Amino acid sequence: MKYISTNDKTPPVSFSEAALQGLAPDGGLYLPQSWPQLPNSFWDQLGQKSLQDIGFEVSRLFVDSLEDELLEENISEALNFDAPLVSLGNHVYVLELFHGPTLAFKDFGARFMSRIFSAMRGGSDQDLVILAATSGDTGSAVAQGFLGVEGIQVCLLYPKGKVSYIQEQQLTTAGQNVTALEVEGTFDDCQRMVKAAFSDRSLNEKLQLSSANSINIARLIPQMFYYYYAIGQLREGNPPIFCVPSGNFGNLTAGLMAQKTGMPAAGFIAATNANDVVPEFLEHGEFHPRSSKRTISNAMDVGNPSNFARIVHLFDGDYQKIKQKIWGASFSDSQTRQAIKEVYREHDYLMDPHTAVGYRAVQQYTASEQGYFSESESTPKIILSTAHPAKFGDVIEPVISAKIDIPARLKTCLNKEKQSVEMSDDYDDLKKWLMDSYR
Ligand SMILES: *Cc1c(COP(=O)(O)O)cnc(C)c1O
Repeated sequence: MKYISTNDKTPPVSFSEAALQGLAPDGGLYLPQSWPQLPNSFWDQLGQKSLQDIGFEVSRLFVDSLEDELLEENISEALNFDAPLVSLGNHVYVLELFHGPTLAFKDFGARFMSRIFSAMRGGSDQDLVILAATSGDTGSAVAQGFLGVEGIQVCLLYPKGKVSYIQEQQLTTAGQNVTALEVEGTFDDCQRMVKAAFSDRSLNEKLQLSSANSINIARLIPQMFYYYYAIGQLREGNPPIFCVPSGNFGNLTAGLMAQKTGMPAAGFIAATNANDVVPEFLEHGEFHPRSSKRTISNAMDVGNPSNFARIVHLFDGDYQKIKQKIWGASFSDSQTRQAIKEVYREHDYLMDPHTAVGYRAVQQYTASEQGYFSESESTPKIILSTAHPAKFGDVIEPVISAKIDIPARLKTCLNKEKQSVEMSDDYDDLKKWLMDSYR
């Protein structure tokens, strides 16, 4: 399998090149050149397959740089937690993607990448530097996923004062090969600085840089696995609608990629907070990236979603085709809080603010858009639950007037001392620091 750039100005590369480079040299994002179809036997036996079985079979189509045994071993190790599908009744389901070590779906991408990268680079004499901008959850998943991995250094940029206390503790207390840079700016500034580093030729001649953001195709591949796994767990026959709480749109893009391999889906709902450039695009056909706004679902505070380029490419740049498969809506913080309260009261189920945005979108869709994807009333709607509610206790506790238990795997980082490097939002400062630290 070769990988092409969304800007179409780079010759196709292998999986390992695409993954280790992150961004293509022409500034585009990598996508598979073709879409192998999963065989009928895969779909027939899906209900009996574990997440790890699915992970191995699907990666075999996309990752050609590792032997079967090594690939299988790394995947079993990376995906050592479950992704259960929970029914809320009335054909609405929640796919819980927060059972990994940092309690957010980013664990899928980070754990997969760390093991695949390490396996692909075995024996290399220069350390690989993973550079990632994070609005919270990416960083903690990457820190945990890559912690102590031989031959890899991790550098995380996060916006000062704009991540939750727990997120900051998760980012800044890992130690070992992980450094957190506390940037005087927004998430978009962090993302801009990281992009500048990847396209800086002189820097890339000195350092082996790679990304762990959803600009990296290696992160999207493991995110396809749980879409299939959800279908396998459904006990209803109709192709479902997937509702994806979105920020950089990597998660939704992974769903579209799964569909390209033959996965049955009626459509996708793109649910956002006030950062609504994609819902706006879906409605009016124009894409206007802008600065991000702060919300209570902060991992989705993205004003210029990088995976938009992939979505456009997957639909051959055809707006009408995109619209047929994706419906979008955005919601305010007060609507999000209302949704958390309602689900708690009516279903005795706790949702984090990101998942609640998804729930609210499904409600709105059902109330006013039913049939948009030519689906029937009994079509299952699956909300991807992207984080554990305990990560957002500061938002949720006042809403439900109750305390949330913090799972043990989250507690361990709370008592450790924060360690970060303060940095301006000027790219030159980042460059200097990288050269000083990793050369
Ligand atoms: C990263 C994240 C999102 C957004 O996912 P994208 O792939 O960037 O669209 C949603 N919810 C949570 C909890 C996240 O950490």
